[in-house]
Amino acid sequence: MTIVVKDGPPKSARLLWRVVVGTAGLDPSRPSRPLSWHLASCANPVSPEAHCEEGRRMITTMADPDGHCLVNGECPRCAQQATQELQS
Ligand SMILES: [Zn+2]
Repeated sequence: MTIVVKDGPPKSARLLWRVVVGTAGLDPSRPSRPLSWHLASCANPVSPEAHCEEGRRMITTMADPDGHCLVNGECPRCAQQATQELQS
């Protein structure tokens, strides 16, 4: 008897991430450096133009777009969140 275990297709494409450690305007009174999360394919982590509307808003409010980077003019992170909301 043979048992074959197969992984099903992934529900959504895994996104590759990279973390960017802020170096500009380091404030010594702050306990930690600001970290921001971008997609590995983010065109320009320091440019708001390389991020979707949500990403730009998050950059403004907390200096972290949380992966909302534009890839070929689209934001895979928004698409992923939309998919997750559909499933829940
Ligand atoms: Zn987005």
